Amino acid sequence: LEAHYSPLHNGSTTVTGGLIVLRDVTRQRELERLKREFISIISHEIRTPLSSIRGALGLVAEGILDDDPQTAKEMVSIANNNIERLVRLVNDILALNRLESGQVDLKYQWCPAVSLVQQAFSSVEALATAHQIHLEATVPNDLWIWADPDWLVQVLVNLVNNAIKFSPPQTAIAVTAEAIASESIIQFAVIDQGRGIPADKLQTIFGRFQQVDASDSRQKGGTGLGLAICRRIVQQNGGRIWAESALGKGSTFYFTLPHPEHQEEGRFFKVERS
Ligand code: ADP
Repeated sequence: LEAHYSPLHNGSTTVTGGLIVLRDVTRQRELERLKREFISIISHEIRTPLSSIRGALGLVAEGILDDDPQTAKEMVSIANNNIERLVRLVNDILALNRLESGQVDLKYQWCPAVSLVQQAFSSVEALATAHQIHLEATVPNDLWIWADPDWLVQVLVNLVNNAIKFSPPQTAIAVTAEAIASESIIQFAVIDQGRGIPADKLQTIFGRFQQVDASDSRQKGGTGLGLAICRRIVQQNGGRIWAESALGKGSTFYFTLPHPEHQEEGRFFKVERS
């Protein structure tokens, strides 16, 4: 509790009473604490790639590698990768901030689920090829959803990206989408055959900068914000997101969207669309 005291006067200088205002500042303190914590995490996240950039470019600038162009090139490439990581980090922080402060106006429209999955696949194709991961989609052609396509593709990209990062080569990642009549929802699933997630982390990983392993984001080039962004987008679209996993066998990330048409027209998905 925070207390403020103001004396009350009777028109002259004589104090005739006092006013004490007590204010519960628990919530405000908590918000301030969260803000400090967030800033400290972000500073740390920024400092790590910055030190790598400084180290790598420093060697090149000092001319130490003048006789070794190959190593010099590697140093520049390390710097470059870290710059990309910083750009991703800043973009993710901005996206999350926009989502959390309600500055995002979702542009809802009817979109074929198939094309959303295809768009997501084309942005992760290069990464999948590099990791020798096979991507497959099982999505009915006549499944249309009511959502903001850009943000929804972002959710799929983040989930498939993670699935690729945490899967061994020569495995497959499947994306499925289906309408579930009894619940009036559309459910997407991203299924991998990767290392899996311990049961006690299945919920926490959706928080900001939460990793199963402290080195996960650095080693795999992530920002630790991907799932927090997914959760925000899905919630904003009226759905829910969760993960199931068996350690060493793989993980499945599910998310749902409400099916407005089901309620409106008593049917599942529109088959015809102009
Ligand atoms: P990051 O940028 O670290 O990937 P995310 O928020 O996207 O951040 O994911 C948080 C953490 O959840 C990851 O660092 C990883 O530990 C775990 N994780 C996410 N997806 C998977 C997956 N498909 N398989 C195993 N672990 C995963």
